[in-house]
Amino acid sequence: MLAEFGIPRDNRIEFFQGKGCPACHYSGFSGRLPIVELWIPNREELLLINRSPDNLTLRNVVFAEAAGRLTMIEAGFRLLQAGDTTLEELLRVVPYEQIEAGREKIAKRFETPLTSEP
Ligand SMILES: [Zn+2]
Repeated sequence: MLAEFGIPRDNRIEFFQGKGCPACHYSGFSGRLPIVELWIPNREELLLINRSPDNLTLRNVVFAEAAGRLTMIEAGFRLLQAGDTTLEELLRVVPYEQIEAGREKIAKRFETPLTSEP
């Protein structure tokens, strides 16, 4: 499942998985946390919208590193690294095309090439 997300096998993430109890129906989860993308367009982005860019072009601008916004998968990774969710849960709730789109960014975060598997 790590490769699915672009995470190298020799990563240094500490993964958590709740054991569960009767109160959480043995899910290990308590309550819910949001994974959201928030975009309040700035002037340049509004001008870009006027030029009717395709979805990918727009997302590349809106979620460029310099913009400082988190995509769903990046927001999910924050929760994962804080021990608040699991990879299984991210795979379940984040649209798959976003996982695919985020793979390169996540791999870059670990500073490991995507094709490091032997
Ligand atoms: Zn529990």
